[in-house]
Amino acid sequence: MDEDPIHDQTYAFAPNDPRSVGDLTFFADFENASDDFRVSYEPEDGAYEVAPYSWMHFGVDGVAGKRPTFRVDHPDHVDERRKFVWSPDGREWSYFEDITIDADRYAFATAEPFETDRVFVAGLFPYRLCDLEELRYNLRDSPYVSGLAPRGYSPDRRPIHGLAITDPDVPAAEKHNVVVMAGQHAWEAWGRQVCHGFLEAVASDDTVARRLRRKAVVHAYPIANPDGVTRGHMRDGTVDHNPNRAWIAGAPPEAERSPVPEVDVLRRAILEDTGGEATYFLDFHSHAGWYDRFMWYADGDDPAVSDLVEAIHRADGERHGDAIVGTETVGGAPNPERKTSKRWAEATLGATGLTFEATPYGSPSMERYRRAGGAFVAGLEAVLE
Ligand SMILES: [Zn+2]
Repeated sequence: MDEDPIHDQTYAFAPNDPRSVGDLTFFADFENASDDFRVSYEPEDGAYEVAPYSWMHFGVDGVAGKRPTFRVDHPDHVDERRKFVWSPDGREWSYFEDITIDADRYAFATAEPFETDRVFVAGLFPYRLCDLEELRYNLRDSPYVSGLAPRGYSPDRRPIHGLAITDPDVPAAEKHNVVVMAGQHAWEAWGRQVCHGFLEAVASDDTVARRLRRKAVVHAYPIANPDGVTRGHMRDGTVDHNPNRAWIAGAPPEAERSPVPEVDVLRRAILEDTGGEATYFLDFHSHAGWYDRFMWYADGDDPAVSDLVEAIHRADGERHGDAIVGTETVGGAPNPERKTSKRWAEATLGATGLTFEATPYGSPSMERYRRAGGAFVAGLEAVLE
C-alpha cells in the first residue's frame, strides 16, 4: 500500500511552527516551503494575504469544508491565465479555478470547499529534492544509468547530484556528450518537471531513446541549487547571488573561483564528466511571464540551434512558428557580460548552448510538462549524427 515511501516520509509530519491566522493554521517548515512566507488576515473581506506571490509554497490546516480566499500583490505580468495550485498531500496538484484580479490584488480560491483538513498551496507544481530522489530511485537499476551520485555539496551540505545515461555497449569515443542542467533558479520548477520527464524518457525502452543512447552520453545535473530549492527561494541559494550570472569560463584552480560555490562544484563536475567537450548544453528554466509557448534563449541564427528547436517542437506537437527564440533575453537588451551557464558551456566545452524556459499559461498538467521532456529525446536524436 505504501508505494512511495520517499514522498510519504516528506509530508507525514507535524508542523513545528504552526501560525494561527484568522480561522486557519499556516505552516512553512517543510521542503521547498518559502522561507520568507508571510500571511495576514483581512477580516473585513475575509481574505488571507499571502506572500511571496510567485514562488509561494505553504501548508494550511483547518480548511475542511471551507473555501478560503487567498490574495497576493498583483504583479504586472500576471493575468487570469496564470493560476496557482493546491494539493491535499503535496503530490497530486490542482489549479485554483476561482480567480479575481484588480489593479492591486490577485485573489484565488477553489470552486468547491476543500475536503481534507490540510492542503498545500504553491505558485506552481513544486519540484523538490524528494522528487529527484524518486527519479534516482526509479533509475537505480537501469543498465543505461551510471554515476548516480553527488558531484559535490552546497554551502548547506546538500548534495548536488549528477548522473549519466547512455548505451554502455557503444564506445564513448563514438558518442556525443550532451549536458543538461536544471534548477539553478530555485522557484522555476516547471523547467525541472520537463528535465525530469526528459531523463525518464532517455532511460526508457522507447525506440527513439534507444537510438539516442547509442549516439550520445547524456550528463545530467537536475538540481543545481539544492539550498535554494529546499528553502523555497526565488533564485538564489545560500549565497545571495544569482547563480546564472556566476559562470566564469573554465574552472578552478586554473580559472577564477565563482562567487556561488554550487557553480564551482558544477564547473568542475561537468569538465570531469565530459572530458571538457560537449555537442549540446541545455539549461532548463521557466518563465512566469506573458508567453503561451516554450521559450529559448539561444542564437536562433545558428542552424545547430534552430534545427534542434524545430525538431523538439515538432516532436512535442507545438507549432514551430510559435517557438520564441531570443538571442539572450526576451524583451530585454542583450548583455554580453552576463556570465550564464550557456555562455560558459559555449566557451569552455565548445557546445551549442540553449537556455530553455517552460511557461505556465493554459494551465498545463504536471504530466504535460513531463511529457514535453520526451520531445527533447526525439529532438536530440533527430539532430545528432
Ligand atoms: Zn531562470
